[in-house]
Amino acid sequence: MLTQPQAPALFAGLLRESLPGVPVWESADLAAPDAVAAIIAWRLKPGTAGRYPNLRLICATAAGVEKIIDDPGLGKDVAVMRTVDPLVNIGVAQYVLLMALRHVRGLPRFEAQQKEHAWIRHRPPDPYGVTAGVLGMGEAGRTVASLLHAAGFKVMGWSRTPKQLPGVDTVAGADGLAACLSRSKVLICTLPLTAETRGILDRRTLGMLPAGAYVINVARGGHLVESDLLGLLAEGRLAGAALDVQEVEPLPADSSLWDHPGVTITPHIGAQASVACVVTQFAENWRRLCAGQPLVNTIDRLRGY
Ligand code: NAP
Repeated sequence: MLTQPQAPALFAGLLRESLPGVPVWESADLAAPDAVAAIIAWRLKPGTAGRYPNLRLICATAAGVEKIIDDPGLGKDVAVMRTVDPLVNIGVAQYVLLMALRHVRGLPRFEAQQKEHAWIRHRPPDPYGVTAGVLGMGEAGRTVASLLHAAGFKVMGWSRTPKQLPGVDTVAGADGLAACLSRSKVLICTLPLTAETRGILDRRTLGMLPAGAYVINVARGGHLVESDLLGLLAEGRLAGAALDVQEVEPLPADSSLWDHPGVTITPHIGAQASVACVVTQFAENWRRLCAGQPLVNTIDRLRGY
């Protein structure tokens, strides 16, 4: 059964081709609760999962699953998978590179000068002189880190467990976070939103960044305490931020983030998994489930990602 992904008919058409003979319902109203064994969704309204006694698999149409697993009625025996689309990781990395270079190369200043017809040169920074810190060294974070390294940044990557990535100085754990923050002139968040990472970008951690640092959040709005960011911007401690994701989406029209000259807001456009990728990965797991084989791209319910 499909619930709330964009264009359910597109998903349903491809699903019927991929899994002939398996009934597919395009909305919750059409399905008999005990007939539903799997759900494909971007978000589950709390209380949804508990309505389906034979539910065995939920497939998130996105990389993040926080809007799926916060349903208290979700049984422990229900497997949750996410979609891992390599093109999403590239899209996220492109977004980060765009925003990082825009800031580091001072593009807003030249755009302002152009309005004044002012042809004034400013020295670009040493291309290897800027350290970018990437929080999260998973599918997205590793792609971001590699692209930033190729673009001439010094890159530090932080994760829960130690990682190795060519050209990237990797650190882990609480000490690793402090080391990463203290050096990052550009800080990028690619963490999953979990109980441990919610609000991780707050006054304390953002205050550990070098003066004049720039923050790029391409993960989830819940990672950032927006009022703390605005406070540090007002104090001149931080130079600015690019926020692809916000705590409340769509960002309310009266949010102060809209009007801050140092803040760039985008409406969660980092990247989105393709319908084909979601369906292919779901169908693979459906076949595995039916054959009693281990599933792929599942998340650890306790860890939250
Ligand atoms: P992933 O492959 O699961 O990677 C998550 C990374 O975060 C891992 O390296 C993990 O460490 C690290 N991590 C998790 N909890 C941590 C903690 N408490 N302390 C330190 N490190 C921690 O996830 P992904 O596919 O890269 O996606 C990450 C997030 O990006 C998604 O959840 C989603 O919210 C966001 N996203 C946004 C967009 C967009 O359009 N804006 C698009 C795609 C994804 P370990 O490696 O040690 O486990």
